[in-house]
Parts: sequence; C-alpha cells; structure tokens
Amino acid sequence: MFRASIFTLYPDFFPGPLGQSLSGDGLARGLWALETRQIRDHGLGRHKSVDDTPAGGGPGMVIRADVLAASLDAGLLPDDPRPRLLMSPRGRPLTQARVRDLAQGPGVAIVCGRFEGVDERVIEARGLEEVSIGDYVLSGGELAAMVLLDACVRLIPGVMGKLESGADESFESGLLEYPHYTRPREFEGRPIPEVLLSGDHAKIAAWRRAQAQAITLARRPDLLKRP
Ligand code: SAM
Repeated sequence: MFRASIFTLYPDFFPGPLGQSLSGDGLARGLWALETRQIRDHGLGRHKSVDDTPAGGGPGMVIRADVLAASLDAGLLPDDPRPRLLMSPRGRPLTQARVRDLAQGPGVAIVCGRFEGVDERVIEARGLEEVSIGDYVLSGGELAAMVLLDACVRLIPGVMGKLESGADESFESGLLEYPHYTRPREFEGRPIPEVLLSGDHAKIAAWRRAQAQAITLARRPDLLKRP
C-alpha cells in the first residue's frame, strides 16, 4: 500500500483537502495511508525550539539539522524503502513522469520546510531529495506536499474510476490536453465543434491530437522539445 509520512510543524494541515473527494475516499477505503510527525516533538529545551538564526547572518530562521534528524530517525526505520523528499523551491521540478513513478512505489516520506528552509547538513546526512512544485515561493512545504500527494494518490489503482484512468491527460503523452465540450450543444452562440458530433472516432482522435499539438505549441513549446 502507498504510505505517506509527513514531517511537519503543522500536522493539523493534514489531511486537509486530501481528506475530500477522490483522495479522501481512497484514504477512507484504505487504498493509501497518511501519517503526520510533529517535528517539534524533537525540539530543544522548554520551548521545544526547532530553529535558529542562519550561520553567516541574514534574515529569518533555519530548521536545525539535529532536530529534524531526530524526528526523521524516530519516524522512519533505516531500511524504509520509501523515497525521502524535502519540499523545496530549489528542488527538481515535479513532473507527471515522476508522479507516476512515485505512485507505483511504496509511498513517500516528505519533509515540509518552513522559515528560510532547513540546515543543509540534514539534507545530506539523511539523503533528502529536494522537490519543487513550481518556480514560486510558498510559506511552507505543507501545501506543496499536498500537491505532490494529490497527484500521486489519484493514480493509485482503485482511487479513480476505470473511466478516468488518467492515461489520456495533459503531460501523459508529452502534450497538453485537447479541449473538452459537453451539453448544451450551443452555449452563448458557441457551438460544439462539428467533428465531435460526427460519431467518426478516427476523425475525432485526429482532431484531438491536432488540437493538443496546437495548444502545446502555443502555451508550452518547451514540452515539445523534451526528449
Ligand atoms: N528560503 C527559501 C528559498 O529561497 O529557496 C524559501 C523557503 S520557503 C519560505 C519555506 C518552505 O516552503 C521551504 O522550505 C519549502 O519546504 C516550502 N516551499 C516553498 N516554495 C516551494 C516550492 N515552490 N516547492 C516546494 N516547496 C516549497
């Protein structure tokens, strides 16, 4: 079973949106599992302090290596096969290929950063793989972890219905998806493209392919250059 262990200073964020809809149903049906670990349980002193000022000066605070390492060591067995991810704007950008890969594995352990981030030495010492969900900065890793989990969990067998296997979606073929239409046949003077009502499946597939290529070229030409 796909198991997610989340190391966070805000365990109450979870399951949050992951407790609703497809992922929530999957969670309730035991198709995947989620646990949170409060990093602060391993904080230091009377105030259970987890952070300190950056060496070399500068703004903000940094999560201490010793505190986060203690939390990870208490929460994960040394032979736990799951990838250990650190949500981070410095990380390799998350892709659908990586999501599919993770979804087929035993699950993930995810560290959610806060403040300026975490001490570099715990990233090295505990083999954390930095993963970014995009080129912008969030205030913490929790929402980023939820994005990653939502993308993975919907691909777990049984979470989505057979009819929505995900195989046809944006990125799966290296292209963005073609446009969708449904009833009514005409909306504010805009008809559904005739070909989609023709019943000719070969023609419909060719039209969708052409649309997907045109949209990808216009919006994300970088995707067409990917090997
Ligand atoms: N000082 C860091 C930097 O400039 O790279 C930003 C730290 S950010 C305010 C706090 C935390 O939010 C990060 O440690 C990370 O866990 C999370 N985070 C922010 N943006 C993210 C993104 N684009 N992808 C994944 N995690 C992100």
